[in-house]
Amino acid sequence: MKKRLDHTESLSTLGQLAASIAHEIRNPMTSLKGFTQLLYETATDDGKRYLSVIDDEIKRMEEILTEFLEVSKPTNNKFDFLEVEGLILEVANFMAPQALMQNIESIIKFELDNTCTIYGDRSLLKQVFMNAIKNAIEAMPTGGIIHITVSSTSNNKVCIEIRDQGHGIEEDKLDKIFEPYFTTKSSGTGLGLCHVNRVITSHEGTIEVDSVVGKGTNFKFFLPIHDKN
Ligand code: ADP
Ligand code: MG
Repeated sequence: MKKRLDHTESLSTLGQLAASIAHEIRNPMTSLKGFTQLLYETATDDGKRYLSVIDDEIKRMEEILTEFLEVSKPTNNKFDFLEVEGLILEVANFMAPQALMQNIESIIKFELDNTCTIYGDRSLLKQVFMNAIKNAIEAMPTGGIIHITVSSTSNNKVCIEIRDQGHGIEEDKLDKIFEPYFTTKSSGTGLGLCHVNRVITSHEGTIEVDSVVGKGTNFKFFLPIHDKN
């Protein structure tokens, strides 16, 4: 089952309002956290158990807020010429410890004739590939291989492919994975791919997803190649 995405998914005014509320919620949460910690010091054993549940829930709220703010942040700020190879190697190295801990090996292949330059925001694009690799890791709880392949297309695009051997995505869910808050994970936020889609769209790129349940998932990111000269 294949799905192609090339529409712009921008945050509405309502989204911007939500982002400012998210900011406001942070302050009272910091004070909740502080007082929870203070109470912990003098609490009984039962009290400590309840307080650590509260503490975990506050951490989870913070995680959701951080990801939400990341998604609603305006893009197109720090654009520059970037070499794809270095970018991908950097991300793969960063994610390697997390993969190894889960018995996952990453195999990276560059199928390019020349070095390939794109025009984009380095840190946003890194987040894109980190999110995709993180999802691949989470889809393979018992280990496996992630194949990362970088190639060019005949229409002057670079294709970054991230293929896993995980549980795959059911056909009826494939339409929803880029929606904010759609998650099938007990501790997921469902914001990763929404952010990914937004960043790729702002870079005039497209995403293709190909998935077979029980076999694995293949994400392809296409970005325009830019000549520096
Ligand atoms: P989260 O990872 O927090 O659940 P994402 O937006 O990153 O949120 O992903 C949304 C959903 O898409 C996931 O919950 C999962 O169901 C599905 N998904 C994304 N990538 C993969 C993958 N590589 N393999 C299987 N399912 C995936
Ligand atoms: Mg994710």
